[in-house]
Amino acid sequence: MAEETVSMECDAAPLPVVVATGNPGKAREFGRLLGASFDVRVKPDGASVAEETGTTFAENARLKALSVFAALGGTLAVLADDSGLEVDCLGGSPGIRSARFAGEEATDAENVERLLAEMAGSSERQARFVCHLALLLPRKNCSDSSGGLLEAEGSLEGTIGLVPTGAEGFGYDPVFRPAGWDKTLSEVSPGEKDAASHRARAVKVLLHLMEEKGMLSCGA
Ligand code: IMP
Repeated sequence: MAEETVSMECDAAPLPVVVATGNPGKAREFGRLLGASFDVRVKPDGASVAEETGTTFAENARLKALSVFAALGGTLAVLADDSGLEVDCLGGSPGIRSARFAGEEATDAENVERLLAEMAGSSERQARFVCHLALLLPRKNCSDSSGGLLEAEGSLEGTIGLVPTGAEGFGYDPVFRPAGWDKTLSEVSPGEKDAASHRARAVKVLLHLMEEKGMLSCGA
């Protein structure tokens, strides 16, 4: 896929950022969340994203960011994320294995089915979505001691229902009810989910960090 600009114009030179994902939908979501200080781009086909071989969300996000950053010769900022669902009564599982909980090629429905089976009979339904972000900056954009790596994490607390409900979203959305909500993430509009999501929260933390460091040009 050709490098494609997926977000906004900004008079004061927005920072070009390549999202380390092969999923244009995810890049567009980050484009919306990051705002006008960034010129968010889909990664070129030739720059492959590393496998998620780490043991934490943070490690995987760093691995993915680094692989694309290196493939681009360190010339452009690269943002990577790793996210998943942590369920208390399962000791934090599925965690980094969220996408593959029911097997390497598992569908969302199969993962949800496995989750509900593992939680059968448990009244402790507490869980959270977690998103870790790693942003690698070229030397020219990084004037402080961060070493070119900025990281942020966001989470969304909630509970796991007994049966899937709703038709929107993806992954574990049909069984995840955010704390204080009477609906699952699959029963609300994409906009409502975006406003509350772990990814939106992680982006907010990242923007705050960049603002503190004077790295934002347009006020996100
Ligand atoms: P990724 O790191 O964003 O690719 O997410 C890994 C897996 O975590 C996904 O395949 C989903 O199973 C789960 N996941 C992450 N974010 C969400 C979400 O917002 N809703 C539902 N499931 C999610």
